[in-house]
Amino acid sequence: MSSVNVTIQELTRTVDPGLRPAARGAGGAPSATASSTCTPDLAKSPWNFDGGSPAYGPGASMGDTAPADTPRQGGIPEEYRLATDAELDARIRAAKETLGDRLVVLGHFYQRDEVVQYADFVGDSFQLANAALTKPDAEYIVFCGVHFMAETADILSRGDQAVVLPNLAAGCSMADMADESSVEECWEQLMELYAEEDDDGRAPVIPVTYMNCSAALKAFVGRHGGIVCTSSNASTVLEWAFERGRRVLFFPDQHLGRNTAKAMGVPLEAMPMWNPRRPLGGNSAEALQEAQVILWHGFCSVHKRFTVGQIEGARAEYPGCRVIVHPECPMEVVDAADAAGSTDFIRKAVAAATEPTTFAIGTEVNMVNRLAAEYPQHTIFCLDPVICPCSTMYRIHPGYLAWVLEELVAGRIVNRITVDAVTAVDAKTALERMLAARP
Ligand code: SF4
Repeated sequence: MSSVNVTIQELTRTVDPGLRPAARGAGGAPSATASSTCTPDLAKSPWNFDGGSPAYGPGASMGDTAPADTPRQGGIPEEYRLATDAELDARIRAAKETLGDRLVVLGHFYQRDEVVQYADFVGDSFQLANAALTKPDAEYIVFCGVHFMAETADILSRGDQAVVLPNLAAGCSMADMADESSVEECWEQLMELYAEEDDDGRAPVIPVTYMNCSAALKAFVGRHGGIVCTSSNASTVLEWAFERGRRVLFFPDQHLGRNTAKAMGVPLEAMPMWNPRRPLGGNSAEALQEAQVILWHGFCSVHKRFTVGQIEGARAEYPGCRVIVHPECPMEVVDAADAAGSTDFIRKAVAAATEPTTFAIGTEVNMVNRLAAEYPQHTIFCLDPVICPCSTMYRIHPGYLAWVLEELVAGRIVNRITVDAVTAVDAKTALERMLAARP
């Protein structure tokens, strides 16, 4: 784990508790306000969406179908639902004070500011899992992100540290698009198809999973000679995989897989899509034999919203603006942008601009607004004019955070996320391969 500890020094930063969303960018560019979200209902009262049938709730994933076994959040005491913002603020700060070094609170880049303000670290999912390792005295890791992130933190943390997700309904629609049984079924079909191929010393196919997946899938790739990637290191990981296999099965995000492989020179016709509801994923045997990267039929509902038309509109309104998008965006959007990269890449690109610059950014609006507040010398706005945040991140509300923290103060651990030992070992194997593959 020493490599993890070294890595985190470069990757994490302490959050500025004073950050707030900017109403407008420095140049008057459109920016989010509380009333301009595609619906404010989830922001104000996420508990109204908990307890019923599994659903992502208002926001970018609203139109996606949540799996029947999606974790559900039971009710929380009325006092947390009725408390004012000021009361919750005082209770959260008091609980944090009482717990002291026994607690570390992690906030994802896409998390809302009302929650991120309490985070000891803010970053992407892997940065945050590693950030917890810099707090060896922490008995409790409260992860203000989504379910797969809390699982990764549990895999990387010590067994005596408890990882808590303030709202169990905070899943991820992309991660839910690849379930273990569908991937196992796909794998069996591919193994059967490739069984007759000549042995050239490489595996017929290497499974590569994006960090945004369940622990079960990280364990799957660990067991099958595969590897995990992030949006920061996807090309390095694909190179690693191509050294060991003739093809890659990439899940769950088709866009990250396609954008990364295309940039490495893999032709589009060598990247068939696997639809888990169809035999051979909806492909011919020949197409799968010729494939270099088999893309799972998954996507991020937030990043799918960005379009080439939005980029054209931004350039028309702000000639010379710099368009930076996340590689979870569709290929046409990535191709039309000036640059594409991970959340960390986007942050660094903004931080590196020495002259006042207009940035049109294609990623989750909470992060964009935070950048706008942090860098007032620039004009920074979200490419998507309809502000539609990540539905699942919004399931975390200060009311839930106050509840889990006060339960910890009372000596009770609620909403603990645990990954069983066998799964954790295999998943860690895949994560460690990724760390070893760093250039
Ligand atoms: S932004 Fe997309 S990938 Fe990230 S948690 Fe939300 S739905 Fe999942």
